[in-house]
Amino acid sequence: MNNQFKDIKVLVWDLDGTLYKNTLTLSGAIHANAIKAVKKANSLSDEEAEQLFQQTYKQLASSTQTMIHCGVDRAYALSGKWYAEVQLKHLQHNQRLINMFDRLKPWRHIINTNGANLVTQKKLRLLGLSADIFAKIFTNADMFGKLKPDLMPFKAMLDYTGLSAEQHLMIGDRPETDLLPAKKLGMKTCLVWGESAEADVSVKTVYEVSDLLMAD
Ligand SMILES: [Mg+2]
Repeated sequence: MNNQFKDIKVLVWDLDGTLYKNTLTLSGAIHANAIKAVKKANSLSDEEAEQLFQQTYKQLASSTQTMIHCGVDRAYALSGKWYAEVQLKHLQHNQRLINMFDRLKPWRHIINTNGANLVTQKKLRLLGLSADIFAKIFTNADMFGKLKPDLMPFKAMLDYTGLSAEQHLMIGDRPETDLLPAKKLGMKTCLVWGESAEADVSVKTVYEVSDLLMAD
């Protein structure tokens, strides 16, 4: 067990790129759909759309926010259809993940995803995770219309648990979207599938999260 996490009561999970690993093929196909929407909304060439997207993304750190800022229909961008169709094709039953959540039963689990509710439920089913594992699933797009890294969805989550921020461990794959806002509010942070100096801890795979919390 990692001693800095001994007071953790709630594990807050990002979904996409966290409960499953993002591959280059997957993120490439999703990015292509985002560019297609920006291109169509502004009658741009591929190259111009890419440039506009990149410039805007640097400031907003969210593809959905970037699309909205670049004139893509807000409802379409927030629906997540442009990425969900790609992800749903990719997701598979994951026994290793299911086993990890079994080990983590003593903790309270929450999902905090920018995706929409219907798609989130479908993804959990495909991974083999029962929605009952989670005390609450925050789908920021349709619940709030505000997305991470905005602090609002994180604050709503803290209001829900009623516990102090440092009793929550935010687990995500993107430091700027998932971890920095959580850290700002006093939560502990864990980066999965990579490394970040911004996180309290980084693990190479999501399956190692249970090792951080469980006694040897
Ligand atoms: Mg993610």
